[in-house]
Amino acid sequence: MKRRNFMKLLSLVVLETLVEPVSALAMQNKNAQIVVIGAGISGIAAARTLKDQGYEVVILEARNRIGGRMWTDESLGTPLDMRASWIHKPKGNPIAKLAKEFNIDYTQTDWESLHVYSSRGEESDRENLGELLVKVEKIQRKALKYANKQDKDISMMEAVKAVLDIESLSKIEKEELYWQLSTLEMDGAIEFEQQSSWGDYEDGFRGDDVLFVGGYRQILDKLVVGLDIRFEQVVKKIEHNSDFVEIETVQDYFKADYAILTVPLGVLKQESIVFEPVLPTSKTKAIEELGMGNLNKLAIRFLEVFWPADSYFLGYIGEERGAFPIFANWATFTDKPYLLGVIGNSFARKIAEWPEEKLKSELNKIFQKIFKNAKPIEAIQFSAWMNDPYAGGSYSFLPVGVTGDVYDELAKPIGRLLFAGEATMRGFSATVHGAYMSGIREAERVLEIIIRK
Ligand SMILES: Cc1cc2nc3c(=O)[nH]c(=O)nc-3n(C[C@H](O)[C@H](O)[C@H](O)COP(=O)(O)OP(=O)(O)OC[C@H]3O[C@@H](n4cnc5c(N)ncnc54)[C@H](O)[C@@H]3O)c2cc1C
Repeated sequence: MKRRNFMKLLSLVVLETLVEPVSALAMQNKNAQIVVIGAGISGIAAARTLKDQGYEVVILEARNRIGGRMWTDESLGTPLDMRASWIHKPKGNPIAKLAKEFNIDYTQTDWESLHVYSSRGEESDRENLGELLVKVEKIQRKALKYANKQDKDISMMEAVKAVLDIESLSKIEKEELYWQLSTLEMDGAIEFEQQSSWGDYEDGFRGDDVLFVGGYRQILDKLVVGLDIRFEQVVKKIEHNSDFVEIETVQDYFKADYAILTVPLGVLKQESIVFEPVLPTSKTKAIEELGMGNLNKLAIRFLEVFWPADSYFLGYIGEERGAFPIFANWATFTDKPYLLGVIGNSFARKIAEWPEEKLKSELNKIFQKIFKNAKPIEAIQFSAWMNDPYAGGSYSFLPVGVTGDVYDELAKPIGRLLFAGEATMRGFSATVHGAYMSGIREAERVLEIIIRK
């Protein structure tokens, strides 16, 4: 059986057990004190589950806000998700279930509903564009098939190059191909050259991605009602033994029966938290081996809409790989003059160094080349998550040669110290729903430990 198919089956089996209600568990020892570190979706899910079972839970959060890598920002005058935006494959997805339960609207998106423009300012012919999308999809499928037949993992780019002679393409064909690849590789938040072709990205859900026009924050706001969240509590040391866990933050000290650590992989890689005793080598090796990617959002506000409002996305085939490849078209979703760009990898690293005025002027030049009636940018915001000390990047990815076992290793508890977060969720990593499910998984683990005692 091919590795990817196997992962799909495995994830379906895991899912059934993960979304089981926990009401049958934990009828005793409600005095247990539990600390959850991190108020991202995984920490909130863990705390919500435990609190709903009647347990004392405190969440310690380094920032002065909830959400971590989910952040709906309103500083440009409308809610814009500067991190997670989409529910990927909503059918069966627990986040879509929450949205229904909380009565929060979401909107269907179609990744093929797009206008694409070249760096010469011309719009790609829609028929050619459609053919290109189909062609690249076929190339990707062939590349994965090729990769699955190899004895060892190769990079996604090596797999693509094995099934397509890129050098034989014309300059324009090459530009188009690299544009399409750069939109695809952004899923993994790293260039295809570094992504494992065996991967671990299958999950058990279905359906076209949907988007919260009013922001993902609406889900979080409902989930945190009644939770005890302590803000600006930057955890710097965790000591644990067979009786309790002690947590030292920059300003306080907490003692708990159990602690669930949900800080991002990027934070674990920075080694900004001291563990006593030190983490086992198997865990530190997994932290080192699993990659932390780099995906960012670019929000732009104009005075008025001057671009077509009949497609969900606008694409740009720049001369430089990954340069402003795709924008979600807020004029279509809301009638408002906003574009929300998704930018990853080296290009994101490069523009993170630019002063805001340079970023604005480079983008103004592009829009003026494409649209005769383009208006100058009014306001702009770029998220440089790789420079954020409480994230250290966007989300995890599997580098070439690393297997999905690292996710399982990261999820392993060490006595009373448990681990959740997207990077602990094999088959569902890099997503909001994966992080959410990991929080429930660890809350259930705590409840099971308590019951066994
Ligand atoms: C740009 C971008 C776009 C994305 N798009 C999507 C999308 O469209 N759909 C999707 O499903 N997923 C998307 N994701 C992924 C998704 O956002 C994450 O997988 C998910 O939010 C991770 O949740 P988490 O709880 O694991 O981690 P986090 O949300 O990072 O929570 C961890 C928390 O720990 C806190 N913390 C860190 N260090 C400390 C410390 N020392 N002490 C105390 N607290 C600390 C952090 O501040 C944070 O609040 C995107 C991510 C990014 C960055």
